[in-house]
Amino acid sequence: MRVIAIDGPAGSGKSTIARLLADRLGLEYLDTGAMYRAVAFAALRRGVDPADADDVARVAQSVELRVDTDGTRVDGVDATIEIRGPEVTRAVSIVAANPAVRAEMVSRQREWARKRDGGVLEGRDIGTVVFPDAACKVYLTASAETRAARRSKEVSDLDYETVAADLARRDALDQGRDADPLRSADDAVVLDTTDRTVDDILDELVALIDG
Ligand code: C5P
Repeated sequence: MRVIAIDGPAGSGKSTIARLLADRLGLEYLDTGAMYRAVAFAALRRGVDPADADDVARVAQSVELRVDTDGTRVDGVDATIEIRGPEVTRAVSIVAANPAVRAEMVSRQREWARKRDGGVLEGRDIGTVVFPDAACKVYLTASAETRAARRSKEVSDLDYETVAADLARRDALDQGRDADPLRSADDAVVLDTTDRTVDDILDELVALIDG
């Protein structure tokens, strides 16, 4: 099984790099953040309080998820746009800090890769928890300003200050939680994407993986 793990905080370039790297390597790509967002979306849609650990765990265990490059379907409903919206973004880190939710998502992620005999998975805990034996582990970073600027370009309806504050809040929750916090695996290649082009980073990663 050939697994490439790409971790890092929001706005570090994970999605762009992971998707293009998967293309170059002829592997499939999984956005695990979309899975946590989908659970938060399902909880909100079912009227469940994101902070109610037991109820949210039941949502995670029962939700029907399809996350692929065409979009995200949650219980048969297209939620591609909604999972990126402010409501879900506000709730997702609380949902993702729930150990029972994580156990369920980690098991689904392992199953996804097993079925395909590998893939490129992007998230927060892929190299540390989901696939500690991954063939290649990459941890992407970028300055807080750069990450907020990238994210505010994607969400045109929110101003830079709001996006920057939201990123800082999510970083703190993701890094400070007890269950599988965001951190770089000891054996990950750490790349700062702040002043680098996408092509430059991809070339470095392909050389590293093939070399
Ligand atoms: O990658 P994205 O920013 O869409 O992820 C949304 C949230 O999902 C993160 O802020 C984090 O709380 C959670 N997440 C996680 N573990 C992953 C991927 C995402 O906890 N592997």
